[in-house]
Amino acid sequence: MTGNKTFTMIKPDAVEANNIGPILAMINKAGFKILAMKYMRLTKEQAGMFYEVHKERPFYGELTEYMSSGPIVAAVLTKDNAVADYRKLIGATDPTKADEGTIRKLFAKSIAANAVHGSDSDENAEIESNFFFSSLERF
Ligand code: UDP
Ligand code: MG
Repeated sequence: MTGNKTFTMIKPDAVEANNIGPILAMINKAGFKILAMKYMRLTKEQAGMFYEVHKERPFYGELTEYMSSGPIVAAVLTKDNAVADYRKLIGATDPTKADEGTIRKLFAKSIAANAVHGSDSDENAEIESNFFFSSLERF
């Protein structure tokens, strides 16, 4: 059985470029509802905790530096088949490889500054949602 929740962030490059509105519009248009949302800035340490799984990857330092460089929007989204459908909506990690019409194709600046995050599994969607939101902040 597939779950109906995923977690997303609108990353600093997309916030800086005034693309919060257009990205949220695409999310709603694709049939996702918002269960939780906040606008905040991560410390480098918090970004490091969020991306802990990538700790050994060569881009980890740059990634955590970038993710703490400005404010982000964090949100929990719901829809049938949320994780897979959201990954489809955002497109490939590298925007040069992302399909036409995807969020990353439209808004990402580079493979690092790629506009949005999307969970890769139901389990990680739950872990990532709990990292940002208490039960009182989820609707
Ligand atoms: N990233 C990067 N260089 C790479 C691969 C990934 O800077 O070669 C960054 C990028 O911001 C990406 C994040 O690290 O979104 C997490 O990588 P992952 O492989 O999980 O990609 P995603 O799940 O975000 O598509
Ligand atoms: Mg990932």
